[in-house]
Amino acid sequence: MSISAAQPSGPGSATDSGSDSVIDRLLSANERYAGAFHDPGMDAQPVLGVAVVACMDARIDLHAALGLRLGDCHTIRNAGGVVTDDTIRSLTISQRALGTRSVVLIHHTGCGLQSITEDFRNELEHEVGQRPTWAVEAFSDIDQDVRQSMTRVRTSPFLAHKDDVRGFVFDVHTGLLREITAQ
Ligand SMILES: [Zn+2]
Repeated sequence: MSISAAQPSGPGSATDSGSDSVIDRLLSANERYAGAFHDPGMDAQPVLGVAVVACMDARIDLHAALGLRLGDCHTIRNAGGVVTDDTIRSLTISQRALGTRSVVLIHHTGCGLQSITEDFRNELEHEVGQRPTWAVEAFSDIDQDVRQSMTRVRTSPFLAHKDDVRGFVFDVHTGLLREITAQ
């Protein structure tokens, strides 16, 4: 596959609104948001004491899908919803500094990481002359990948709370979560 960035085009794309850049559109939306904003006076500790680790996929509206409201949880997102060292960094701070105790892991059907391989790194090295230090974390068996993520959380020496760690696959066509049991 090509690793060059695709350019959005055509009706409905983020760039078809006159000369505004997409970021200008976001800033306009923010002005409207702030105009109606009322400070809820919350502190930074998530109300429900839960951290959600999920793929960055644009089709997953985590708050809507899980019935979450502002202030309820930490959301940690990356390509694949992978539990990387940096995910552990965020979870460690979430638990030890901000009081969360539960971890929800969400991968999903049709994930981009199922359509690439670790060759992605070789292609990158060929193109830019430098090999990334990070793993792509591509996978083919989504259930097994969720289990691996759960294992990484449960075996981390840095986390204080590992009793309530559950993993799921979100179906982007039905909106339903399917729980993955540990093996
Ligand atoms: Zn994904």
